[in-house]
Amino acid sequence: MWEDNVRKVVPYTPGEQPRVSNLIKLNTNENPYPPAPGVFEALKELDAENFRKYPDPTCRELNEAIAEAYGIPADRIFTGVGSDDVLAVAFLTFFYGSKPVLFPDITYSFYDVWANLFRIPFKQMPLRDDFSIDPKDYFGENGGIVIANPNAPTGVELDYDLLEEIIRKNKDSVVIVDEAYVDFGAKSVLPLIDKYDNLLVVQTFSKSRSLAGMRVGVAFGQEKLIKFMSDVKYSFNSYTMNMPVLKLGAAAVRDKAYLEETRNKVIATREWTKVELRKLGFTFEDSKTNFIFAKHRTVARDVIFNKLRERNILVRAFNGERIKDFLRISIGTDEEMRTVINALTEIIKEAE
Ligand SMILES: *Cc1c(COP(=O)(O)O)cnc(C)c1O
Repeated sequence: MWEDNVRKVVPYTPGEQPRVSNLIKLNTNENPYPPAPGVFEALKELDAENFRKYPDPTCRELNEAIAEAYGIPADRIFTGVGSDDVLAVAFLTFFYGSKPVLFPDITYSFYDVWANLFRIPFKQMPLRDDFSIDPKDYFGENGGIVIANPNAPTGVELDYDLLEEIIRKNKDSVVIVDEAYVDFGAKSVLPLIDKYDNLLVVQTFSKSRSLAGMRVGVAFGQEKLIKFMSDVKYSFNSYTMNMPVLKLGAAAVRDKAYLEETRNKVIATREWTKVELRKLGFTFEDSKTNFIFAKHRTVARDVIFNKLRERNILVRAFNGERIKDFLRISIGTDEEMRTVINALTEIIKEAE
């Protein structure tokens, strides 16, 4: 009967990482460009001799590099193994009441998984039909709030002032803003951590800094929030960040010019892709991210998905009732997106 005492969970399903070569991989919002040149340098300087020692549990080198790059004191910074780790620690730390934690019905599908894992009550607030958030949904009693901005998988940005209003009207709970995609053109609420002690802003090096494989996530908040998160981390696993990642992450964040250059390329390619998709009869809300969440006016989603797959192009499809007609297409290089648009042109023509 030991099964009665098992913590049973329905896990998150990550996007596929197939072992096929020459695949155009547009299913997990990875960056098509390599990490900053400094990351390659730092990698060469790694000495395996040091690996017999534990890494620095305080992640000082990385946190100080982030502090320097963002102009935010290191004691307002918490780093973890990707923002998934940072968000999981934040859920475990800040969502511990009996009132429900609120987040949209269509959003990052890890939120309800963590809530279930940690036995946190939650309530999913329906987005409007245009995938926008109604701020009033977040003004009632709650045990915490988590909002991805821009949202995933929709790509839609919530207006800065409306987001601030949600933060301001919820001084008795912690509001987590997941800014995984904010570097691709949305406005960050990071400056608001000075003003609100209940705001935690979470970002990742996986998308805009091309380091998904290294796992670096970061949270920003006032000292008290960060201290509570650190206490939980040190009660679970003190050495979450390994020695290489502390150095490679620091190298990545020091190169502001490279971030600027690659994000501008991704944004330009995204805007070109929007125009081409519209010409082909796709509809979508405006995206401020490195993906476009689109459906076709007449051709079924699965037909397009499968025919792209036959051509070695992988995109993402979700099963939720309100989003089952949509494809999420990550933004690749210009050449990859030209190939995708050419493939879609043929697929749509065949199907119509
Ligand atoms: C990608 C993503 C994350 C997680 O990224 P990590 O690779 O774990 O840093 C978190 N939130 C959203 C909304 C994402 O899209």
